[in-house]
Amino acid sequence: MGRMLDALVKLQNVERQLAEVRSRLRRQNAAVAVQQHRVDECKATLVALQEQVLIKQKNAGAVELELKSRDAEVAKFRTALNTAKTNKEYAAFLTQINTIKADNAKVEDQVLKAMQDVDLVRTQAEQVKSSIAEAEKKLADVQANSAEEVKRLESIMAELTGRRNEAAKDVPADILSIFDRMASAREGDAMALVEVQGKKPPFEYVCGGCYMSLNAEHANALRTRDELRFCDCCGRILYLDFNAKP
Ligand SMILES: [Zn+2]
Repeated sequence: MGRMLDALVKLQNVERQLAEVRSRLRRQNAAVAVQQHRVDECKATLVALQEQVLIKQKNAGAVELELKSRDAEVAKFRTALNTAKTNKEYAAFLTQINTIKADNAKVEDQVLKAMQDVDLVRTQAEQVKSSIAEAEKKLADVQANSAEEVKRLESIMAELTGRRNEAAKDVPADILSIFDRMASAREGDAMALVEVQGKKPPFEYVCGGCYMSLNAEHANALRTRDELRFCDCCGRILYLDFNAKP
């Protein structure tokens, strides 16, 4: 292989490792974000449940108040019974009392139901609180592990960046800018090996990047010339492995 393509392949090698490290760094950040999202979701659920507790408490309070005012009314009519002047008046008060008491049974059920509602939502809120505690603990673990891994990956990245800059020195500036453009568009995957198929001529040639067949002209040119040639299908920079068969 010519000097320029040789230098590019070395650069490509470092570039691929850099892309892998970058993607691992992204995964680390994503893992923390996912866990943070779980914590946030649980907290939002808790706020909604706490609001519901307040609403249901208010509702229970209103029904209780209604019951109290009905009890007060019964008491009022009971007092009136003692002051009834006629049998007819007495009977009328008694009817009032019985009517209110009959309805009170229903209102008492409503009070009970309203209080059960409050308890139910309160229990749900307590469960969500323990989910939050669990999720926060997991988040702390993920953050701690991630911080360690990020530190490790960043030091690998620094080392690879040094090697990359070193390898880039051997590549002419105009070619380097083409390579960089392709590498950044393809996550470090700017080049493809020309794969040779068949045991004897005429050989078939395939792009090692996209696996589409290549015109033999590319392989023939690369055997003798140190130049940039691109896959007609995926556009990767092609190179030959001179240690492999023809
Ligand atoms: Zn290709």
